[in-house]
Order: sequence, then C-alpha cells, then structure tokens
Amino acid sequence: MLKMEEKYELLKELGSGNFGVARLVRDKKTKQLFAVKYIERGTKIDEKVQREIINHRSLMHPNIVLFREVMLTPTHLAIVMEYAAGGELFERMCTAGRFSEDEARYFFQQLISGVSYCHSMEICHRDLKLENTLLDGNAAPRVKICDFGYSKSGVLHSKPHSTVGTPAYIAPEVLSRKEYDGKIADVWSCGVTLYVMLVGSYPFEDPEDPRDFRKTIARIVSVQYSIPEYVHISSSCRQFLSQIFVANPSKRITIQAIKNNPWFRKNLPRELLEGEKCNYENLRICQSTQSVEEITQIVQEARIPAEGSKGSWHSMVGTLDPEDDNGASSADME
Ligand code: ADP
Repeated sequence: MLKMEEKYELLKELGSGNFGVARLVRDKKTKQLFAVKYIERGTKIDEKVQREIINHRSLMHPNIVLFREVMLTPTHLAIVMEYAAGGELFERMCTAGRFSEDEARYFFQQLISGVSYCHSMEICHRDLKLENTLLDGNAAPRVKICDFGYSKSGVLHSKPHSTVGTPAYIAPEVLSRKEYDGKIADVWSCGVTLYVMLVGSYPFEDPEDPRDFRKTIARIVSVQYSIPEYVHISSSCRQFLSQIFVANPSKRITIQAIKNNPWFRKNLPRELLEGEKCNYENLRICQSTQSVEEITQIVQEARIPAEGSKGSWHSMVGTLDPEDDNGASSADME
C-alpha cells in the first residue's frame, strides 16, 4: 500500500478548523486535486469519528463533498476528499455584501438538495452554516456541503470561542437540551443560511450587541427577527422564511414541503427537480475503492497514538504548520 507522500503531492494549506488542518494535495498519478483533513492519531479518534467517516463514504451526491479514502501518516489520520476549488460560500457572500433573491435561491436550492439527500440516508448535519457550504470551481458554481456527518452533536457544549460554538444557526429546540429531531433542526439552520445570504447579517443577532450570545439565544427562542427596510425581498420569500423560523419543530416546514414551495421551485434546475430519483452512480468513478472493512481497520490503527516515528510526509507537512517551528507535531507539544 502506498504511503500518503508517495501517492499525493502536498500543494498548500487550505485552512484549519475544529478538527485540525485541511490541505490541498494532488494525486501524483492522475493529477487530480483533493482536499485532505488531518486528525491527530490517538484519543481524538473515537467510535464517533469512525462512524462519521463510514457515513461520509456512503454519501454520493453532487452537492456533498465526496469522500475518497483514509490514509495513515505517522502522526495523523488523513481523510482524503473532493476538493471544492471555489472556496466558502460565506467568503463569496462577504465580497458581495449580500445576494439578490435569485442568487440566494440558486444556492439555497442546491443546499436543500444536498441536505434532503442526506436526510434520506438518515444522516443529519447538525452544523449547517455558510462556512460549511463550499463551491466548486465552475463558472456556474455548484454548492458542495462539507463536514456532513462529521458534525459534533454536542454543538452546545462547545466553548463559546470555538467557531462551532456560535449559536447563530442553532434551532430553538436544540437550545432546550431535550431530545430533538435533527432533520427539522437542519431546516432551521438552512433558513438561517438563506437569511444570511439575502440580508448579509445574522437573523437573531442583536444589532447593538452582535457578540452577546445570551441575547442571540433569547432572540432565537422567541423567534425575534426582522428584515431591514433597505433589503428588498418579495412577499413570497418573506412568507417562506416565516414558515422556516417557527419555534415549534412540529409546526416548522419540512424539507418535503420546502421542495414543493412556489418560491423554492422558481427557476429550479432540472437535475434538482429530479432530486433523489437521480442516479448518482456516475460519481463513483471519482470515489473511493476502500471497503468499509478497510476503512475500519485504518481508523482502528489510528486510534493508537503515534510514537516518535517521523516520516518524510510528517516533516513535509510540519513545515507548513505555523505553530510548528521545530518540526514537532502538536501531539508532541501537548
Ligand atoms: P471547520 O471545522 O471550521 O469546518 P475544516 O477543517 O472543515 O474547518 O476546514 C478548514 C478549511 O479548509 C476551511 O477554510 C475550509 O473552507 C477548507 N476546506 C475544508 N474542506 C475542503 C474541501 N473539501 N475543499 C476545499 N476546501 C476545504
């Protein structure tokens, strides 16, 4: 079996998140680009991570970042996946300030298509937000949801300073800490995403005090949001948002009803219309050949903490790590 550095050429760092760092690599043989997420070997890799990787492997949809394979480096578990060259939708929105209703709908339709597919596979995201919504490099960009299945169910227990701790996208029932339906909670988060694209700010943040989480939470629970006067949004779109922002999850619009909503269906691309009936098997060509058993074995091995060994891949990635000035991994420094 080829080692990571034998198979892939490291190109650059894409960024870092809650899981660890993400990097852009190129398959030396096929020249295809991939994104790789690294999770430190050892205790960070638990049953849940394993289940999530297996979940990701089963997802094959044009609006979900495709899983390719897992590999071991001396220090990390590397998850190789489709590279979304267009960056985060969030960045694009920040550059634009906000989107027109048609633009927002264009992205929202794809978001719903991906989310609906995952729900049909009984997988909820639980951390949907613009930052997890990437774009491919096409002129007519295609949405690529990332982190599906990698989401932490304990969003609430995250520390406020971590990005996942932001309550901006959290549904009221998730805040109540009682059992909730992850699918319906995802609908709320999709609604927040739509609002952010249309307005350019978060729906439940106090304009005077946007960083005050308590105020945000109070506004979420009481469904207190408004659309600024300077933003022109059609009444059908306003009505649609009001069907999503419903505190009682059993009264909130479902994904199925969203797909039948006239505002949503306007200019709906043909392939989205066909929805889950579509055969996405053609995506298999770029997909993993690793079996569930192989993945399980590699992940199990990654649960054993790395011991001293320093492979060339490690020293190679080490040079890209800003906090790593002596080639030591973060595992070594802790
Ligand atoms: P987070 O946990 O905050 O979502 P990630 O570890 O998922 O962070 O990603 C870190 C950075 O890498 C982010 O800036 C993200 O945009 C980028 N990234 C993650 N996955 C991909 C991908 N498949 N293609 C392109 N960029 C990606």
